[in-house]
Amino acid sequence: MDLQTIREQDGRYLMPTYGRFPVALEEGHGATVLDGEGKEYVDFGSGIGVNSLGYADPGWAAAVSAQAARLQHASNLYYSEGQAALARRLCQLSGMGRVFLCNSGAEANECAIKLARKYSFDTYGKGRDTILTLQNSFHGRTVTTLAATGQEVFHNFFFPFTEGFDYVPAGNLDALTAKADGSVCAVMIELVQGEGGVRPLEQEYVKALRRFCEEKDILLIVDEVQTGVGRVGSFYAYQQYGILPDIVTSAKGLGGGLPIGACLCAERLGGVMTAGTHGTTYGGNPIACAAAQYVLDRVTAPGFMESVKEKGAYLRSAIEAMPHVAAVRGLGMMLGVELAKGTARQAAEACLEQGLIILTAKEVLRLLPPLTITRQEMDRGLAGLRKVLESL
Ligand SMILES: *Cc1c(COP(=O)(O)O)cnc(C)c1O
Repeated sequence: MDLQTIREQDGRYLMPTYGRFPVALEEGHGATVLDGEGKEYVDFGSGIGVNSLGYADPGWAAAVSAQAARLQHASNLYYSEGQAALARRLCQLSGMGRVFLCNSGAEANECAIKLARKYSFDTYGKGRDTILTLQNSFHGRTVTTLAATGQEVFHNFFFPFTEGFDYVPAGNLDALTAKADGSVCAVMIELVQGEGGVRPLEQEYVKALRRFCEEKDILLIVDEVQTGVGRVGSFYAYQQYGILPDIVTSAKGLGGGLPIGACLCAERLGGVMTAGTHGTTYGGNPIACAAAQYVLDRVTAPGFMESVKEKGAYLRSAIEAMPHVAAVRGLGMMLGVELAKGTARQAAEACLEQGLIILTAKEVLRLLPPLTITRQEMDRGLAGLRKVLESL
């Protein structure tokens, strides 16, 4: 099908929920991808932080294919070697004690919310169920995770939303403690707000928040759906903030391109979600687990995290030197570029013409390149970006 035909059929048969760029990607290797017309792009977006090893990584594809040829699915009514092995490894990498496997970031956050409320219910009884989240956050698209998202634009149309969420400004501990009365059971944060415009939280704020939550037995949930699995130069971002959360959620880059999510909790919370209180048909699917195992093999190899930090620093300093760049912020290979001129959306569209796929988040250009991107691919992408920014 040519692009015109795809666009017509998409427009006729799919619910129009996405504001799509005018391109259909067909085949890629590494950080380079071709559309149906053979035009080549460097990808600085990884399908929104998902293709952590780039397109069609040979080892990843082999691990996935081998599992698909043996056993593609077994119900969660039965034991699974793939799940047990993956959960053990995630606990070792994170310092958490137990894992629930699911299929997406929103589902991982749903599990975190249920766990926090059930812990509080079991321990303190009814009425201690409010979860505080930060203004400008993003936690997903289900009715409950939309309610958790601290942006008014997401609190529309789908009334009534799940009750029991309240919002506080990021970085302001006094505002949070003022709301933390006896009804609060948890605080949920992103350490670098992704969809909200690539905004890292301050180290001191996060440490003080951790101490406050501990004193009050308020659970600290860290949403690492976008920041996790090596994206910011450590396995999880909180490992750079010097804290240990009570609950961690993970998805996006975890499967390297297959849908998998995980909700991890501290050992002391490991018994809260008992048989019958939660579940999902696909969660911990063997192919998704094999994909995640392979991603973990690669991102935990010696030197990998250092290379993420180095590439992030390289991209950052190259972009800081470009015209019309007001600021670059972020952590590791999660970067936001504030432009002094033009809109991020227009710049991203112009980049596409230059053979560069780049994301936006609110008013910034957002980079989430494959963690395995090469120096040559970075340079090709940067050249395209420079050209676009020069012509603003
Ligand atoms: C993308 C994202 C989600 C939602 O993940 P889905 O897999 O789209 O459900 C939740 N939290 C954060 C921080 C995200 O970036």
